[in-house]
Amino acid sequence: MSLFDDITAGKDQALSELAATTDAAGLEAWRVKYLGTKGLSRQIMQRLKEAPSDQKPAAGKAANEFKNALQAAYDEAIKKVGATAAKGPVIDVTLPGRKPAIGREHPITQTINELIELFGRMGFSVAYGPEVEDERHNFEALNIPPSHPARDPLDNFYINPSVMLRSQTSTVQVRVMEQGPPPIRVIAPGRVYRPDTVDATHGVMFHQLEGLYVDEGVTMIDLRTCLDQFAKAYFGPQMTTRFRPGFFPFTEPSAEFDMSCPMCLGKGCPVCKQSGWIELGGCGMVDPNVFEAVGYDPQRYTGFAFGMGIERMVMGKHGIPDLRLLFENDVRFLHQF
Ligand SMILES: [Zn+2]
Repeated sequence: MSLFDDITAGKDQALSELAATTDAAGLEAWRVKYLGTKGLSRQIMQRLKEAPSDQKPAAGKAANEFKNALQAAYDEAIKKVGATAAKGPVIDVTLPGRKPAIGREHPITQTINELIELFGRMGFSVAYGPEVEDERHNFEALNIPPSHPARDPLDNFYINPSVMLRSQTSTVQVRVMEQGPPPIRVIAPGRVYRPDTVDATHGVMFHQLEGLYVDEGVTMIDLRTCLDQFAKAYFGPQMTTRFRPGFFPFTEPSAEFDMSCPMCLGKGCPVCKQSGWIELGGCGMVDPNVFEAVGYDPQRYTGFAFGMGIERMVMGKHGIPDLRLLFENDVRFLHQF
């Protein structure tokens, strides 16, 4: 077939295919096939050199007309499809928007932030320490000697014989005191780790809040007042607190501190096991041996320290019966708080 025949046949085929094309994707495929850089129009241009020299002007003219006709038909078709696209799909502006899912603070984080705010009003700043600790900060400087049962490898997560996951936030007391002289008034919230059997009130990881106040003339009355004010501010002004004798290696004297049960207000109920009291944590006056370990003069300075479990506070405040609920990451549960 001659070039002229190919042009005529190509034009007929291109226009009939274009007439059958109704959408933008089909139009684009058609454009590539006929007007693209490797399309039929370009192929015809390249074949012009085949034409005998006396026919070249006419062939060139035919090829140009072919290209222009296809381009004009394409431009027309794209206008029609564009007009249809502009009409269609209808957007209902009265429909409500799609609400993005916004996360929220975990109840443990909420509680830690509340405690930071509350103790901040009593002049406590916040200190943090590493969760991987050495034995000096976790035990020795806290007056816990190598023979003490708390150092049993079965009761701690040792990484090597002298490095471990901290078992208490009291480590931060030591780190803060090592950084400089009194006065010191800090709280240290954070995670601690112990290989306990997991049940409704125990986990292998939990959160503690440690408090430390060191200065000249700090007495147990300051400790008593601080914790009583805390209980009233956090759980309500009707709360009363009490101290019971206790023992911790790093405080002397030591006490367990309890708060009147928020459920029954001291009358006795299943939550407080009919005692009327809820145990909040341990506390005491900083042992002179701890001061000596960090280079403070125990003749000049006194101080108090306390520690409490944050999970217990969250559970008490919201009436959550099982600790494990807090760490299962079930958003249906967590979204309640
Ligand atoms: Zn009770």
